[in-house]
Order: sequence, then structure tokens, then C-alpha cells
Amino acid sequence: MTDIRNIVVLTGAGISAESGIATFRGPGGLWEGHRVEDVCTPEALVRDPALVHRFYDLRRAALAAVEPNAAHRALARLDAHWPGELLIVTQNVDDLHERAGARRLLHMHGELRSALCARCGARTAWAGDLPPATVCDACGAPALRPDIVFFGEMPYAMERIEAALEACDLFVSIGTSGAVYPAAGFVRTARWRGAQTIELNLDPSDGSVFFHESRMGAASVLVPEWVVSVLGDA
Ligand code: NAD
Ligand code: ZN
Repeated sequence: MTDIRNIVVLTGAGISAESGIATFRGPGGLWEGHRVEDVCTPEALVRDPALVHRFYDLRRAALAAVEPNAAHRALARLDAHWPGELLIVTQNVDDLHERAGARRLLHMHGELRSALCARCGARTAWAGDLPPATVCDACGAPALRPDIVFFGEMPYAMERIEAALEACDLFVSIGTSGAVYPAAGFVRTARWRGAQTIELNLDPSDGSVFFHESRMGAASVLVPEWVVSVLGDA
């Protein structure tokens, strides 16, 4: 690993599974009993705002009952000790990376603990329930919605992420199915620019063939092992 300076880590729902947060497409293709189209699209928010807001209220409330696991803690240790560049890009909307102590972190699909104004775009830290038509402090419109990037919406910070991918020497993907774009394409961008690419996942993902190396197993085991291999035991 001596020639590695610049690392990008992508995480998905699988890194939080062992903390007790359900992954996206569980049995039957449902997320916590809901069809993705009913809770993860701008159309659903217009059609049934009460259902969509309630769904994310429950997800936000559930954060109080979970804790970061060994995989989140290992990435936080990497963040604290890695002397080179590091960017942890998460598709997760939970707050387990930051609660473990990670700082060089981007939530590309939004955050449960944030509210977004559909009128002015202001983002506000949020705790507790967020009923439809909650008033935005910044512009006064009754337009706050969950700060979640729905299907068809633009993920956050794509320019910064693309730049990091193009500059990295090592790209590591953890606990993601490789089914949701643009994140599923990150491995190809990084590899095309010459990075080493590793996947750590429970099962082979849709994008496994694009990685130089795939290690299969639980994130709570594989991620700490990988971080030790990069940092040493110190
Ligand atoms: P996904 O559910 O599509 O895929 C999860 C992947 O993790 C699978 O490939 C599975 O094999 C793997 N996995 C499951 N348990 C694992 C473990 N213990 N160790 C290692 N790997 C494990 O999730 P995704 O690819 O992140 O895409 C789903 C989208 O849904 C995300 O973009 C996110 O916005 C949203 N989501 C977020 C959360 C969260 O914040 N925790 C939870 C569910 C969905
Ligand atoms: Zn506003």
C-alpha cells in the first residue's frame, strides 16, 4: 500500500445492516414494507405527502435505537489517521458514520437528520417529526420536506465526488448493491483513471466484474481488516 496516497470510499446500506438498519431491497423488493416508488420518488411526495413524511419520520426515529458498528468505527479510525487524501462518500441517509467519528464524509443521497426547503433549497438540521407543510425559517414557505435524494433527483456534491474519483489511487466500495446510479458507476470512473479498486460486500454486487478485487463477507469483519491493512495496527 506504500504507493497509495488518495483514497475514496463509497458506502451503502450494507455497512449499516449489522447496526440493525434494514437494507434497501430486502425480501420482496420492499424497503421496510414499502414499494420504493411509494416513498422514494418526487411523484410520491406530491401524491401522498403524509405517507412519505411519515415513512422518513419513522426512519429518523429509528436512529435513536441503533449504534455504529465495527465497520463505521474502522472508517472513522482511517479518517483520523490517514495522512493522505480521503473522501468517504455514503449513499446512506443514517448518521452512523458521523456518530462513529468520521469527518471527511459526504452524504450524496441526503440525510434523515436534515430538512430541505422545496421552495428555497435551504437545508436545516432536523430532529423529531417533520409534518408536511412545516414552515421554512429561511423563506417562510410551508415547504419543508425530508432531505432525501429521490429517484430522478440529482445527488449532492457530484462535482466534488467526480473530482475525488478522478484523483484517487484507491477506490473501495462497501455494502452497496451497485444497482443505483450514479454511485454504481464510480468504480468505472476510478478504474479508468488508474485507481486500484476493491469491493467489500456480503454478496457479489451487480458491479463486481468492474473491481480488481472482491472480498465477500460481513462489513463488521472485512472493513476493520482492510483498515488494518492500510494503516497498520497503530
Ligand atoms: P442495497 O440495499 O441496494 O444493497 C445493500 C448491499 O449490502 C447488498 O449488496 C448486500 O449484499 C450488502 N450487505 C448486506 N448486509 C451486509 C453486511 N453485513 N456486510 C456487507 N455487506 C452487506 O443498498 P444501496 O446499494 O446502499 O442502495 C440503496 C439506497 O437506499 C441508498 O442509496 C440509500 O440512499 C438508501 N438506503 C439507505 C439506508 C441507510 O441509510 N442505512 C438504508 C436503506 C436504504
Ligand atoms: Zn425556504
